[in-house]
Amino acid sequence: MTEQIKTEQPIVKTMLKGLTLNELKDFFTVVDEKRFRGDQVFEWMYEHLAQSFDEMSTLPNYLRKKLNLYCELNTLTYVSSEVSHKTGTKKYLFKTKDNYVIESVIIPEAKRTTLCISTQVGCPLDCQFCATGLMGYNRNLTSGEIFDQYLLASKDWNKTPITNIVYMGMGEPLLNYANTLKSLQIFATEKTKGISLRKITVSTAGIAPKIVELADSGIKVKIALSIHSLFDETRNKIMPINKKYSVNENIEAVRYYANQTGTRITFEYVMLKDINDRSDDLNALIKLCKSIPCKLNIIPFNSIAHMNPSGIARELEPSPRYKIEEFVTKLRENNIFTAVRYTQGDDIAAACGQLAIKSLTPNLSKGEGE
Ligand code: SAH
Repeated sequence: MTEQIKTEQPIVKTMLKGLTLNELKDFFTVVDEKRFRGDQVFEWMYEHLAQSFDEMSTLPNYLRKKLNLYCELNTLTYVSSEVSHKTGTKKYLFKTKDNYVIESVIIPEAKRTTLCISTQVGCPLDCQFCATGLMGYNRNLTSGEIFDQYLLASKDWNKTPITNIVYMGMGEPLLNYANTLKSLQIFATEKTKGISLRKITVSTAGIAPKIVELADSGIKVKIALSIHSLFDETRNKIMPINKKYSVNENIEAVRYYANQTGTRITFEYVMLKDINDRSDDLNALIKLCKSIPCKLNIIPFNSIAHMNPSGIARELEPSPRYKIEEFVTKLRENNIFTAVRYTQGDDIAAACGQLAIKSLTPNLSKGEGE
């Protein structure tokens, strides 16, 4: 009887992409194979970017057949891409198996090529200046889906090697902590591609307890805190998550992170006219940056007016250029390492905070066509 029930059930395939090296080895033990098969499949998946078990020529034939029958390898498929004529920035749309569309962006620069990846479908945070927030939130990406963005983009992008990864696409990585961490563990194990953890930045709107957890995880990536204001009253308005984790809690968390990991914190600061560009803001920013090993990224606000936001979001405007220059000059005079992140790829809506698929319903034709 039990046998009969078993044979009538459809096979639920195990997704191998997204498993860490140890998990893969454990998997092969469970299915009565040698643990070193885990090393081999790991290398095929993450180093040789294999997209089918049949390509894994070092595996015996019987094993490839077994894997085809019981396992899956690919999480995302390529939908389309667009290249910015201004900067060479390339935006990719990838589709999940349940037909959500997510975005990744490659930003080529003189000395490095950065890939910006997403961690969630949409975002639950509702930051008032961000296009992704306006889409609402659908679900976390799996570790395989996070890592596959790198594999698919690497496979397509054959100009220069990808040297840096930023977790700054759609979503809040630290609200998808387990899968984000797993994807980082895969990067940490990956042997030959040459992306070291020092070249990876996880950007967060400030989920203080998770910053602390990441500090204790042993995975030494760089962390960027989207701070945007040092005053709770202002930050509550533009980033509602601040009501849960205040400015101070987040600053203490990144201070701990810097101490534990020996890394420099990146603070991101989107300049919003009359909201966070007053002299009080500048002074508070200088004080913060002097108290912690850090660098500062000043980001001119990329308008999201075309998305017809409501509430405060409607009123947001970029700070005038002279204000940005004044901030940068004063910060540098105070020996604070400051970069201005001018827009890359606004002509293809690939600029900071502009990632947003028009429709999030699980129906590709809607996501794809608009
Ligand atoms: N949730 C994470 C990562 C995604 S957002 C975070 O908040 O850090 C990546 C960066 O883009 C953040 O610093 C965010 O504040 C910034 N950003 C969002 N919308 C923007 C906009 N319209 N113009 C400029 N930067 C924006």
